[in-house]
Amino acid sequence: MPPVVLGEALTEQSYLRLREAILQRRLPAGARLSVPAVARRLGVSRSPAREAIARIAAEGLATFVPRKGAVVARITAADLLEIYELREVLEGLAARLAAERIAADGLAGLRALLDRHRAAVEDGDVARHMELDQAFHRALRHAAGNRRLLEPLDRLQAQVRIAMDTTHRSPGGMPQALAEHEEILAALRDHDAVRAEAVARAHIIRLRQSIASSGDVPAGGAGSSRGGAR
Ligand SMILES: [Zn+2]
Repeated sequence: MPPVVLGEALTEQSYLRLREAILQRRLPAGARLSVPAVARRLGVSRSPAREAIARIAAEGLATFVPRKGAVVARITAADLLEIYELREVLEGLAARLAAERIAADGLAGLRALLDRHRAAVEDGDVARHMELDQAFHRALRHAAGNRRLLEPLDRLQAQVRIAMDTTHRSPGGMPQALAEHEEILAALRDHDAVRAEAVARAHIIRLRQSIASSGDVPAGGAGSSRGGAR
């Protein structure tokens, strides 16, 4: 394998591992991401480490702080409101396109996800609920069949994931979220694009309202407005 390709693979792997460490909160909000420290952590040289940090920052998961360098982004409740304003439109679009394009195997995949989700909700398993909730939205945007829709939604979802940490948010209303996902799937099954978009938007609007009404925008969050919702 030519060295250039090997370098690219290493960079990609470094990025994915750093991203996972942030999403799984092994690297919490505010943690410094210096090039030597990241290189040591991943067991790679500085070049792939630097590239991984740059990609993490481009994704909104890290921000650059003067004299400190890159740090893991702190996504506040205020950032989340902005994220959900965007998500409303993009998730609605994803549902509309998916209703037009989804095939039988796509519908079966979503059905299986919702069955697992129902079991998690019945068990009161919050972590599993969050995981399956995200899996549903990921499958939905893939079913939309528009590659350019994937990147912004992936990025927003990653920011939402780390916000769950920094805002100490509890994903309340598990049965309601599941019921709304069922409505989206029913519209997809009917290939009703207008209804699919409407119920997907309503789902995100409700989540945004629950964030707005919880009113727990952290006051002391250093750099809160820089939180990386780009
Ligand atoms: Zn959802």
